[in-house]
Amino acid sequence: MDVARWSVGTLPDECDLAIVGGGFSGLTALVRALQPPCRWQIVIAERHPRKGPGIAYGGCDASHLLNVPVSRMGAFPESPGAFHSWIERTRPRQFAPGDFVPRALFASYLDSVLDEALTAACRAPSELAQAPAPMFVQDVLVRAEPLQRHVDLLFGSGATLRVRALLMAPGLPMARAPWRNCDEDVPLIHLSPDPWSPNALRGFAADAPVVIVGSGLTAIDIVSALRRSGHTGRITLLSRSGRLPLPHATSAVTNAEYDTALLARGAREALRVVRQASGELQERKLPWQGAIDGLRALTTPVWSSWSTRERARFLRHIRPLWEIHRHRAPSALLDDIAIQQREGSLVIRRGSVQALRRGRHGVVVTARSGIGPNFDLDAARVINCAGPAQGVRDTADPLISSLLQDGVATTDDFGIGLRTDAEGRLVGQDGRPHDRMWLVGALRRGDLWESTAVPELRVQVAAAMNGIAACLREA
Ligand SMILES: Cc1cc2nc3c(=O)[nH]c(=O)nc-3n(C[C@H](O)[C@H](O)[C@H](O)COP(=O)(O)OP(=O)(O)OC[C@H]3O[C@@H](n4cnc5c(N)ncnc54)[C@H](O)[C@@H]3O)c2cc1C
Repeated sequence: MDVARWSVGTLPDECDLAIVGGGFSGLTALVRALQPPCRWQIVIAERHPRKGPGIAYGGCDASHLLNVPVSRMGAFPESPGAFHSWIERTRPRQFAPGDFVPRALFASYLDSVLDEALTAACRAPSELAQAPAPMFVQDVLVRAEPLQRHVDLLFGSGATLRVRALLMAPGLPMARAPWRNCDEDVPLIHLSPDPWSPNALRGFAADAPVVIVGSGLTAIDIVSALRRSGHTGRITLLSRSGRLPLPHATSAVTNAEYDTALLARGAREALRVVRQASGELQERKLPWQGAIDGLRALTTPVWSSWSTRERARFLRHIRPLWEIHRHRAPSALLDDIAIQQREGSLVIRRGSVQALRRGRHGVVVTARSGIGPNFDLDAARVINCAGPAQGVRDTADPLISSLLQDGVATTDDFGIGLRTDAEGRLVGQDGRPHDRMWLVGALRRGDLWESTAVPELRVQVAAAMNGIAACLREA
């Protein structure tokens, strides 16, 4: 990502469209907005001085792999295979469509998509487009007030902006670090609350013990980054479930076919049906992963058809199982972890952080196991890989909390996201969608459930941008 693009520039007083968030969703929305005949004045705002587009593709090193195969990572729903075509153009015959390639490569692809769109917009014939170039601003949106014919925005720097349409693509807010009960004399140097910050994995001896809180995809990435940087010390993954993500299939997957009416009966019945489909696939010597992948297109309609009670049942009892089956890891990374477990250099412990105090290597983590007595873990560094916030009701994120406090937004029944209509327009506390405010990304998970990865996000972005185009066409 061209860092120079993001500046703490002076905002205009008003513009046609503001896009908030410079991750995959915000950047691909910008590319769509730039398609000729674009005459809109656009501002795109991003909180972080990122090296790349968002956390997923910005802070990664060469060992961090995508967890979706190349063939499904195209930036636009009209051409899902476009990422693979780009790879073939730029690195002929290096990767097959089913490969899991480095995430940094996806960041380069997004960069090239954006550069192409910016160049094409500048070169568009004068009768087609003469809008000013979009303005990239490093700032954080803290408040959005919808008015009759525009939305008034307030940024963290104090700048204000009046827009005719607003697209929010903020991803999920960070969770609070999972170590609230921390003795005051524990030096902060021993704690890495953000695993993607530049110093998160630096500043401790190569043979020192490390505790990683979490055992999901981020934890796996951080283990592989530590080992690549030469870390030989013992790594403990501490997580409530004590479970790693399951592996992607290593042979061709045949998706199971489902009767949607059966899945729609409720969470327990859906679990039974999916288990049965998985068993049938395995009897045919086919990967079980097809039972999950076959659900992909059905997840949102089935989730929407469930009552609040069924959704609550799923979240309480089935979600942990769903997470490890659905958000899978490349098997090569899991094989590495298994080798380290056998050698004893990596251990997975079930539990959550109870307290931190100063210790021999820097810090001692007291963990509560839930099934046995508390136990202590020595660490020179404790790294938070527990993932984003689970809920938004008590969030510290200034934008989300102001939207909720002002009644501009409302949460879904479980407080895991914000309510939107089918097109992605934000729904206010009065239950009505706003005419000029759209939301895309994982904050829509309460309504859609499947709202995390590129294949779903690109569809959301397309729908929202169609709505925005119609809104901006109006006088
Ligand atoms: C480590 C990791 C690996 C992943 N790997 C894959 C993968 O292989 N394949 C896949 O399909 N998906 C993957 N995902 C899922 C990933 O989240 C999505 O693919 C996608 O990157 C999400 O993009 P987004 O733009 O919606 O959100 P984000 O990438 O989170 O971007 C949101 C941006 O908005 C900014 N922002 C937030 N609030 C404000 C504000 N108020 N003002 C200004 N800026 C703001 C944030 O700083 C951030 O840069 C991965 C996720 C993670 C965390």
